Amino acid sequence: MKIAVINSGSSSIKFQLFDMNTELVLASVLVEKIGEFSSSTIFKHNEKKVVITSVIDNHHEGLKNIIILLSQNNIIKDFSSLDAIGHRVVHGGEEFKKSTLIDEYVINKIRELIPLAPLHNPANLEGITISRKKAPFVKQIAVFDTAFHSTMPKEAYLYALDYEMYEKHKIRRYGFHGTSHSYVLKETAKIFKKSVDELNIITLHLGNGASACAIQNGKSIDTSMGFTPLEGLIMGTRSGDVDPAIIIYMQRELGMGVDEVDNLLNKKSGLLGICGSNDVRSIIESDSEKSKLALNMMIRRIKKYIGSYMALLGRVDAIVFTGGIGENSQYIRDKVLDNHLAGSIKILVINTDEELEIARECIKVLEK
Ligand code: ADP
Repeated sequence: MKIAVINSGSSSIKFQLFDMNTELVLASVLVEKIGEFSSSTIFKHNEKKVVITSVIDNHHEGLKNIIILLSQNNIIKDFSSLDAIGHRVVHGGEEFKKSTLIDEYVINKIRELIPLAPLHNPANLEGITISRKKAPFVKQIAVFDTAFHSTMPKEAYLYALDYEMYEKHKIRRYGFHGTSHSYVLKETAKIFKKSVDELNIITLHLGNGASACAIQNGKSIDTSMGFTPLEGLIMGTRSGDVDPAIIIYMQRELGMGVDEVDNLLNKKSGLLGICGSNDVRSIIESDSEKSKLALNMMIRRIKKYIGSYMALLGRVDAIVFTGGIGENSQYIRDKVLDNHLAGSIKILVINTDEELEIARECIKVLEK
């Protein structure tokens, strides 16, 4: 069974082709900097790696090149020979609690959700529309970053704002990185030789974007990202939690515009804002005071979330680290855990695989 996974971002396409009988990757293609002069396509197949640098004007061209590469290397002739195509969709709002077979209704709903994810959903939709044109008879499935968190109780997902903000405008916590939290939960269950609903764990996805999740009996009951991915942990370039009055102050007293504040919080804050870099590996190696401060701030925030999730969960079977930082940095893991959290909690490091999780979700949907 061959399943392709497409993660179509604003200026990139990440493509992986799986043989789902073995769960092995048959080929992967990364198209980057779409619409720029320095676009590149990196193709990997077995031991082979090819880097092509040619201007790619749009997603249509990017996907066309992917198909050409797959065909030239005799992997598949075109998309019509696939059993399914899984698409990562960032925002599923309140509508999508599970991965879903894509039809016109689903496409319209994802489009309606654009105001909630103005950067991501349009790019995800672009990938969906183009691949439906390329393979009109192949089942296409949307897998949402938010879906795993749809089990959060109301007291977790509501903000204490005028209730109308929720009812009329759907302002609530949605949470993201759901595919990753869900993947590492299932891997944890395999390690424990238990079913997921027997597990209470805290998962920490620490990459350039970062989020924590409290999982009770296999269900997300709280997560650090909120209405958007800006809330929660201190990230590469995002501030995470700040007093919301700061935003009012910036606008009212500092005369900053809406886009300027948006850009500051999402792109110029976090580790980058404090020490000038968002690359944790090099921040650890640097001995500047600001680098140390940035790391300490990030670590402290993670600890605060772990503490609050322990209080929510009561019993915690494991704390699971994943994402580029979580998987690779013993230093950060040690610092986060240096207060010797209760001895009965297992500490696990699990490499996340969001693409494989999307392919597995496709099979679940196909089986229905
Ligand atoms: P993204 O969210 O963009 O997918 P990743 O999950 O790849 O990001 O994580 C990127 C982060 O992981 C960077 O800050 C990088 O410095 C960090 N990282 C990768 N390898 C290491 C390492 N060996 N030690 C410390 N940090 C690392």
